[in-house]
Amino acid sequence: MNRTLTCIICPRGCTLTVTGEKGALTVTGNSCPKGEQYAVDECTHPVRTVTSVVRVYNREDTMVSVKTSSPIPKEHIFDVMNAIHAARVRAPIAAGTVILTDVYGADVVATKSVD
Ligand code: SF4
Repeated sequence: MNRTLTCIICPRGCTLTVTGEKGALTVTGNSCPKGEQYAVDECTHPVRTVTSVVRVYNREDTMVSVKTSSPIPKEHIFDVMNAIHAARVRAPIAAGTVILTDVYGADVVATKSVD
């Protein structure tokens, strides 16, 4: 493997180079250990936090912003997005309310309140 990545852990955006094979990867270009871990994770089991919106059915033209409570495997992002887009919630909603439970190991929670 010889892969170049941009670290997305902080705004510095270090350019990371990953060489070697799974189980023995070498990372260069990172300015801190978080970048090395990010690069290894990205090359072995990439995950992402999903953010989106859910329709509030009892408020006209209102959506509530949501995100997954933890990162989910990257290959399941579209499945999670489909579940989020199919969901409907009733206001009032408090920030932190669980909208969907156990979607590929994470909950989908509201990130703002709707009165
Ligand atoms: S390697 Fe460290 S300093 Fe560089 S972008 Fe990643 S987290 Fe930030």
